[in-house]
Amino acid sequence: MELGPHLRRIGNDIVAVHLIDTDEGVTVIDAGLPGHWRELVAELAAMDRTLDDVRGVVLTHGDVDHIGFAERLRRDHGVPVFVHGADADRARGGDKPKTPMGAKRLGPTFGFLLYAARKGGLRTTHLTEVTEMSDGDVLPLPGAPRVISMPGHSPGSVALHVPVADAVFVGDALTTRHVLTGASGLQPAPFTDDPALALDSLRRLSDLQATWVIPGHGAPWRGDLAAVQAEVQRAADQRPTA
Ligand SMILES: [Zn+2]
Repeated sequence: MELGPHLRRIGNDIVAVHLIDTDEGVTVIDAGLPGHWRELVAELAAMDRTLDDVRGVVLTHGDVDHIGFAERLRRDHGVPVFVHGADADRARGGDKPKTPMGAKRLGPTFGFLLYAARKGGLRTTHLTEVTEMSDGDVLPLPGAPRVISMPGHSPGSVALHVPVADAVFVGDALTTRHVLTGASGLQPAPFTDDPALALDSLRRLSDLQATWVIPGHGAPWRGDLAAVQAEVQRAADQRPTA
């Protein structure tokens, strides 16, 4: 699906993967679930591209629903996979701390788990090799993503600002569709290691210039970036267990 002249999306509002397309090739932002591979190949074909045009994968963090086909691209096609140093171990299959799930509703939760299972989420292939990135880095990839450290959901969570796509990709620093309740609108993401820190990190979005805020789960959001932190805070105050 085309979201803009340089921005494509595969997956859906349950789990989304984004592609940045420029003259230099394609950057993949997050790698979804293993079963998104076929959609990736089909989307590249629709763009008159092939897997050989993919220059890199950038992970917003190391959780399993974001690393799906990354190792396959790395191993079989020599594509480098970038992740913040603090999440490198998680991307390689290290332990994720257990977090309370908070509020959930059976229908959306089941829908998420079913979708994840259908897309191969139960047979995760972890990374064996990653390229570590840090706050402030501008990655040598199409669209020149700039790394903004956003600890909270995980220690190495980042936002990626891509001016050519007029977008900032926030991974699970927030969500616009809670995978466990189905509620839509800006709100904290579930499975967050440190919710207070995650809220605080959202302040870092406030002086970016971008039209789109694009989460890993939920519809792209557009609005005033300076208002994002307060809106997510308000949602958190309304549903303190989520
Ligand atoms: Zn996620």
